[in-house]
Amino acid sequence: MQPENDWTREELEKDYIGKMSAITVSTEIVIKGKQRILDQSEMEKLLRNARRISVKECGCRNKLGNCDNPKSGCLNLDDEADSAIEKGAREISVEEALQVLEETYNAGLVHMAYVFTGKDKPTYICSCCSCCCHSLGAAMRYGYSDHVFYSDKISVHDFELCENCGECVDRCHFGARSLEDDKLIFKSEKCGGCGLCLRECNYDAISMKERL
Ligand code: SF4
Ligand code: SF4
Ligand code: SF4
Repeated sequence: MQPENDWTREELEKDYIGKMSAITVSTEIVIKGKQRILDQSEMEKLLRNARRISVKECGCRNKLGNCDNPKSGCLNLDDEADSAIEKGAREISVEEALQVLEETYNAGLVHMAYVFTGKDKPTYICSCCSCCCHSLGAAMRYGYSDHVFYSDKISVHDFELCENCGECVDRCHFGARSLEDDKLIFKSEKCGGCGLCLRECNYDAISMKERL
């Protein structure tokens, strides 16, 4: 769905495409990007190994303003934190950073680890919405599929257990879940493996498996 405000292709190509890539990171599962595997414990390790961490307001939501999701979801590490703090970002502890991630997960935002081209580890840990984020927007609406490395996991739907309550639908930014005629429709080919839907289901109808 096209949000009210959006990036232009020119803006994305000037500032983001080819300059960084993003890996979706689920809170509850292991995912694999092109060069690395990250799960939440590795995310925590990344934070604990960082010399410095900062948090700043989400530039994408500030710029486009298409949703009311929390603004404080943009974490920077090490040199990126130095430069963000110089520009006004707030230095935080690992515990505060983990709390930010928990809050944004609860709010239904996709955790993404960003790696700048030429760097060997993520220096941005972001909590992204599909309506404002340059990366999810670039991947989903502009077709820059290499810009976002999706998880190597995929959601599995158990139609026997599903009560068609629809609670998981709004959690999914990738359009993999919808309700049609009061029936849950799951399009596995759209699943980005973020794991956000898992916790919303009270009927154990959702699980994750390796993407083949
Ligand atoms: S990448 Fe995600 S968290 Fe970072 S500024 Fe954009 S939407 Fe916000
Ligand atoms: S179905 Fe949607 S919310 Fe669930 S893991 Fe896949 S992309 Fe994430
Ligand atoms: S939350 Fe669970 S029970 Fe409800 S529609 Fe989704 S999968 Fe089915």
